[in-house]
Amino acid sequence: MSQDCATRYPLVLVPGMLGFIRLVLYPYWYGIIAALRRGGAVVIAVQVSPLNSSEVRGEQLLARIEQILRETGAQKVNLIGHSQGSLTARYAAAQRPDLVASVTSVAGPNHGSELADYLQKHYPADSAKGRLLGVLLRVIGAVMGLLDTGYRGPKLPVDIPASHHSLTTEGVALFNQRYPQGLPDTWGGQGPDEVNGVRYYSWSGTLQPGKTDRGGNLFDGTNRSCRLFAKTFVREAGHCDGMVGRYSSHLGTVIGDDFPMDHFDIVNQSLGLVGKGAQPLRLFVEHAARLKAAGV
Ligand code: CA
Repeated sequence: MSQDCATRYPLVLVPGMLGFIRLVLYPYWYGIIAALRRGGAVVIAVQVSPLNSSEVRGEQLLARIEQILRETGAQKVNLIGHSQGSLTARYAAAQRPDLVASVTSVAGPNHGSELADYLQKHYPADSAKGRLLGVLLRVIGAVMGLLDTGYRGPKLPVDIPASHHSLTTEGVALFNQRYPQGLPDTWGGQGPDEVNGVRYYSWSGTLQPGKTDRGGNLFDGTNRSCRLFAKTFVREAGHCDGMVGRYSSHLGTVIGDDFPMDHFDIVNQSLGLVGKGAQPLRLFVEHAARLKAAGV
């Protein structure tokens, strides 16, 4: 077996909103865990509340990290978060930098999501449409929770308004005031590569007509959803992955922010159906080698 991905510390994968470990047989990190393990990495996918604030999710993640450290004997972990998983990982690293060697944001709304802003404006929580959306999310979350065969912990609390607020530009700006570690000083810039001994990295994709809407994505409903969601973007119109803007994703060392991938392609969803020229697994494998080279 190759040892190219054999990082010093375990890789802990943190999912986004409505995330899961494995729906019946179907993993959130489709093909990614196997690819990293083939390279010799210790990889653990975790679950946190699918619908809650980044702080509540972050506290759950911290408890899980402590458990992982006890079980593996490792001194620290490398956190890789997708979407809201990035904010969750950032919270954990800000609170316990002694337990976290690195935070990697994969399509993380590190400056908020314009899709969440649109929903806040057009589906406010106190409106009939907003309440309907809340009920729908609650039902989806509950069904997914029942089907998650990978998670074996206590029932995770749900707070839909907190979940939503944690993803808007306004909500993330408040979060960023409290937990600024790794953020760039200027819009579109890179962040520091290390803060409090924690290394910070990010990558993300953008919708690219002729690429992201071709190949496997011709058959993929999540790509059609991303193309629809992209229409809600104003500040980063034409420069988003359907749920997160290109510059909004920046954190620490920016490995890339315009890979031809939608918000789901970037974690090899759905079923590895991605657009032309997209190589989501390769980015994870290369990143594990990068972490290994950095000594973490
Ligand atoms: Ca796809």
